Amino acid sequence: MFITDSQLLSYQRCPRKAFLDIHGDFRQQEFPSDFLLKLIRDSLEFKSSIISNYNYQIPDYPNGNLIAGVKATESLMAVGVDVIYKGVLMTQQSAIKLPPQNSIQSDNFLSIDFVSYPDLLIKQPGYSSFGDWLYIPTDIKLSKRPKLGYQIVAAFHAQILAIIQKSWPKTAWLILQKKGLYKVNLEQRIQQMQEIISELTVMLQNSLEPEVFISRQKCNLCTWYSSCHTVAKSQKHLCLLPGVTSNRYAILKRLNLTTLESLSKANPDDLKIYPEFADGVGIQVVKQAKSVWENKIILRNEKFTGKLESQVLQIINYQLTKLVDSPVELYFDIEAQPRINLDYLHGVLVVDKRYNTEKFYFHLAENPLDEELIWHQFLDLVWKYPIAPIYHFCEYEIQTVKKLAKLYKTPTYQWKPLLKRFVDLHQVVTKTITLPIESYALKNIARWLGFEWRNPKANGAQSICWYEEWLETGDRSLLDAIVIYNEDDCYATYYIKKWLSKFLEEQLKKK
Ligand code: SF4
Repeated sequence: MFITDSQLLSYQRCPRKAFLDIHGDFRQQEFPSDFLLKLIRDSLEFKSSIISNYNYQIPDYPNGNLIAGVKATESLMAVGVDVIYKGVLMTQQSAIKLPPQNSIQSDNFLSIDFVSYPDLLIKQPGYSSFGDWLYIPTDIKLSKRPKLGYQIVAAFHAQILAIIQKSWPKTAWLILQKKGLYKVNLEQRIQQMQEIISELTVMLQNSLEPEVFISRQKCNLCTWYSSCHTVAKSQKHLCLLPGVTSNRYAILKRLNLTTLESLSKANPDDLKIYPEFADGVGIQVVKQAKSVWENKIILRNEKFTGKLESQVLQIINYQLTKLVDSPVELYFDIEAQPRINLDYLHGVLVVDKRYNTEKFYFHLAENPLDEELIWHQFLDLVWKYPIAPIYHFCEYEIQTVKKLAKLYKTPTYQWKPLLKRFVDLHQVVTKTITLPIESYALKNIARWLGFEWRNPKANGAQSICWYEEWLETGDRSLLDAIVIYNEDDCYATYYIKKWLSKFLEEQLKKK
């Protein structure tokens, strides 16, 4: 069995992924999303652009023959090639002194070899078993920051290289997107790397399946997502509650609050002594558990007595003023391409109650150079309805209006008054109610209310891929798909607004 540098990286992001990649049922793995494939492509393109600056040699060996790859790499090192691209390094587990772990060795104990694939091996002056030179490893990463995971992997390359060339590399390098060359502090990282490798080895040798823990940031591109989500759902795992982060979950475990029922009945005062649950987080997490456990909507500041307090009423009243029916209402959503800092679509649904009409307008930059043009088209449209509220979901639309106004030197009178008309529905929802859902994202809330997107696979990441593909291929059906997705987002925002104002009004009437 092998442990590779990419498994080491996976393990640091999610131990369960490293486990499933070896022991999981591959039939449960999904095909990588278009967005993930795009990230992989972008990363390879970046790598190629860097590599083109070097005069390198690639080890020559039959595809897939690991041992031949190792031998070919060592042959290039032995003759002192200046730069080796796509080298393969390998050593046995016993060659590395790992910190002891509580290893429960199973009957299927597997011996492990370590394999790493540094992007570059660069020859330096010094002494090694090959002669008066040695190699240092270098990885090329499409990343703005020298993430700790990358540094640990660089230390892994260095460790294996030290065994092969019988001399420690002086350093290891990362070549990053914006920062350029970054020197990894090996003294600091080697010990950390050995501890992580030691844990990973014990996990794999003993087939210890890590507990599932879904978190949007780490899981949204993972090919095991559906499988893990099904497991979490069947376990009614607390990670599916908004607000339960891995740090907070660790505390809940210590307090033996590991089931929905126990958390929903917990006393929030027991939580608030922990900084992770300060500032009302503990109360909200318990309330969220109660909402899911009892499958009901709870008002945000409602005490568990079930009685409305004057403070709750004040909040509802205040938030309701933002939802008051207007003759004309605008629902606004932007599509963007963050990699090139481009906002290429402004979609606006105009709901005109005077004429009982709903009309969707979109301003689309078919060419990235049209960003300024569509910005002005958007301004022209919203100023046709000078007092209509502009509903949106989350802060991106406000931030973008400010950004575009600055970028295109828009006179203050054209954009600043708009800010007062913006109503962030995400904020209104989260300030007033707790819902029995997994996340307060637009899709989760609208779907829970019964709204459906025409294309169930469409999402923000997918629309980024469609737009890039449109630029490459000129296929207009991709633009059509983006516009439909954006229109549905605007309608979903409208759907939530209608439901929420009705719901909050009913709560006030009950009082
Ligand atoms: S879906 Fe999340 S928890 Fe499951 S393996 Fe992937 S990253 Fe880990």
